Amino acid sequence: MAIVKEPDRVLRKKAAEVALADIKSSRIQKLLAAMRETLSETQDGVGLAAPQAGESLRIFIVSEEAEEIDRAEKAGWQRRKRKTPEKKEQEPYEKRAWKYYVFINPVVKKVSRKMLEDAEGCLSVPQKYGIVMRHEKITVEAYNECAKKIIRGSSRFFARVMQHELDHLEGTLFIDKVKQFIEAEKPGKN
Ligand SMILES: [Zn+2]
Repeated sequence: MAIVKEPDRVLRKKAAEVALADIKSSRIQKLLAAMRETLSETQDGVGLAAPQAGESLRIFIVSEEAEEIDRAEKAGWQRRKRKTPEKKEQEPYEKRAWKYYVFINPVVKKVSRKMLEDAEGCLSVPQKYGIVMRHEKITVEAYNECAKKIIRGSSRFFARVMQHELDHLEGTLFIDKVKQFIEAEKPGKN
């Protein structure tokens, strides 16, 4: 599946809720499988929203790799230097077949007052990176792929990815919120 790119209009629509009875339908399960496969085939993608798959539905997935990036950062790994994209540091963790967390009809329950600035990129906006302010922490309630209600609290990078994906469901792209475009690449695109 090809990832929809800006300026495709589907990226600008407010996505529709998924009927709970439809979550287990083959249509939605096939869409989830296609999204997982597409994300896993990207070089550095860590999240994907259904509108990026051409479906204006309130669904996004986040790779377990986002947790790994948080763990690595906590352990003292410095992100690739913003102004020296040519010097790619080695990933501080082993790449593997990541698990993907599924969020259907997500609702934000809580956000931290504290905001953090960091670099961001998007699989639908190739070659652009910029500094975006995001809440340090966010708690989201949603349904998973089994139609089970879940609640997920997250912080730092995982929280950033969630906010980026939630924006996709509103037709908002990171380029709408960027404080400053930068040249470098960052480790996780959404
Ligand atoms: Zn994106």
